Amino acid sequence: MMDTIQHRGLRKRLVQHLAQRGKFDPRVLDAILRVPRHLFIESSFGRFAYQDTAFPIGCGQTISQPYTVAAQTTLLEVAPKMKVLEIGTGSGYQSAVLCEMGANLFTMERHLPLHENAKKILEQLSYHPRFYYADGNIGIPTIAPFDRILVTAAAPSIPDQLLNQLSDGGILVIPVGSGKEQEMLRIRRCGDKFQMEKHGTFSFVPMLRGRE
Ligand code: SAH
Repeated sequence: MMDTIQHRGLRKRLVQHLAQRGKFDPRVLDAILRVPRHLFIESSFGRFAYQDTAFPIGCGQTISQPYTVAAQTTLLEVAPKMKVLEIGTGSGYQSAVLCEMGANLFTMERHLPLHENAKKILEQLSYHPRFYYADGNIGIPTIAPFDRILVTAAAPSIPDQLLNQLSDGGILVIPVGSGKEQEMLRIRRCGDKFQMEKHGTFSFVPMLRGRE
């Protein structure tokens, strides 16, 4: 598991680029500075790991662009020890960023090879979220409620099950839309009410049903 001084230099440049492009929580940028993104993608793409782009990770899926990770994680307002549910483990990169922020993380993936790969790399890097090979539309009723829920795939609509699994004061960040682009929504639960804000357009792979 090599993380060289060159990689650290490239990460610093990536974080400077992100700080220029948007208004992100400094704690999120610190986490991005610490997570070796090059270890979450195929080595043939390694030299592009610190460019602000998405890459294929197998099973027709992609690792999210760093800008998107910074934006979603900032919107999520994670504090240490919070119970966080992530839907779409994918490469495991976003999971590592959430673990760096001190989240008590539960992460779900519907593709078995991605679930297994992410588990391997995160454990090697000493990140220890709980991994679920399952359909994220259902959430994890036995573990709910969650302080935070982050969906990293495009949902055609907001799954009721996820709203129900938010704690009072909890936040759900989810890209919603069935076209090429989706609207980033932040939904905050206040008792039985849900307040929704829109936070710009993004482009994600679709949130599908069932397991592969
Ligand atoms: N957070 C990931 C992003 C991966 S792309 C990363 O940092 O790499 C989105 C992921 O969501 C894909 O791996 C896809 O398989 C997964 N996904 C899509 N629908 C899902 C569902 N219903 N349940 C669980 N995972 C899902």
